[in-house]
Amino acid sequence: MTGAATPMIAKVGVIGAGQMGNGIAHVCALAGLPVVLMDVKAEALDRALAVMGKNMDRQVAKGAISAEDKAAAVGRIRLTTGYEAFADCDLVIEAATEKEDVKRAIFKALTPHLTPECLLASNTSSISITRLGAGTGRPEKFIGIHFMNPVPVMKLIEVIRGIATDEPTFEAVQALAAKLGKTTAVSEDFPAFIVNRILVPRINEAVYALHEGVGSVASIDMALRLGANHPMGPLELADFIGLDTCLSIMQVLHEGLADSKYRPCPLLVKYVEAGWLGRKANRGFYDYTQTPPRPTR
Ligand code: NAD
Repeated sequence: MTGAATPMIAKVGVIGAGQMGNGIAHVCALAGLPVVLMDVKAEALDRALAVMGKNMDRQVAKGAISAEDKAAAVGRIRLTTGYEAFADCDLVIEAATEKEDVKRAIFKALTPHLTPECLLASNTSSISITRLGAGTGRPEKFIGIHFMNPVPVMKLIEVIRGIATDEPTFEAVQALAAKLGKTTAVSEDFPAFIVNRILVPRINEAVYALHEGVGSVASIDMALRLGANHPMGPLELADFIGLDTCLSIMQVLHEGLADSKYRPCPLLVKYVEAGWLGRKANRGFYDYTQTPPRPTR
């Protein structure tokens, strides 16, 4: 123990307004924290605001929050395309595209705008926290905060310390997780951490099963839903996560652990090359322009 005081997180920044960024902003704002949400694309910010509004409406309809709670939470969210608004944040969580060079460039551009005390986190699904932290000039204040999708619904946050992460940073993030009503699982800094080390190879195996003709999309998903009691089939889940994100995680596992058992399925690679990224592209293993979504193989 260092004996240093645990930093207070009273204002949060979020970088990347995709499905994870908007979920993280949603739960932080509902917990009473002012939030700065940034994206390079203005249309991603507009979409994020609409999604957060719709998701909070659902919570209001269920009686989980009041209409006043929703209005107050939305009022706490500031949207921006620049880094200046992060100047008075206590923690900035990066939730941009799962590509190491994208994340590195963000931290390089971001850090000059922060106070020296500001904590930094990545929501990466797989990339080394130690390596990302090393490029920030404040590796002791850098940590992995891995939210699950959809953020407002899922109870878990994986917390990952890099080799240099200090105890006050870890404690501050544990306190934040408690404030958000989430439970944490602590993972060591290994490729893809705990959840995705186990989950994404299973998805990759389902894509191999499809590729080799073991079963159709519908059969594979039905088999795991009813045969293993999973709430979603693996291909349905892959579409939900995003096939580009699934492929990036397999590549990190393959390179990071140097074991051929993590080889990304060539069919997964092909789908990503085609731009069939799952729900967010309206097409993946299912065609989402149809109701109900139609299996594509
Ligand atoms: P997404 O594709 O929905 O959104 C990514 C967003 O990042 C886009 O809006 C994009 O415009 C933005 N972006 C790209 N470059 C940027 C930059 N330089 N500055 C600011 N914004 C930028 O992706 P997602 O599913 O929200 O994933 C985001 C992160 O969360 C990834 O690291 C991913 O691994 C992780 N994650 C994803 C899931 C999941 O189920 N999808 C779960 C947990 C963690």
